[in-house]
Amino acid sequence: MNDDPSDDSTTGPTTAAHPRYRCTTCGNLTRFDVVATRRTREFHHYSVGGDLTVEQTETLDEEVESVSCRWCSSPAGVVAVDASDG
Ligand SMILES: [Zn+2]
Repeated sequence: MNDDPSDDSTTGPTTAAHPRYRCTTCGNLTRFDVVATRRTREFHHYSVGGDLTVEQTETLDEEVESVSCRWCSSPAGVVAVDASDG
């Protein structure tokens, strides 16, 4: 049991729990196409004139389907990297 703030994904909704990725084929660390299914709750705040501002987005559920390297255009070499690993 520890209080690692990056490991709270099992309780309640998370807002910023995206892992980092790395392409082992070309070394890319920064450019990826991520295909995901998300269920979110958003606070839609309309002005009297009807203009919408989304003031708060809460991710209730997220499932990453695939991650492709932008440079290789392939998911083959992409691995998730533990952000705390340096
Ligand atoms: Zn690549």
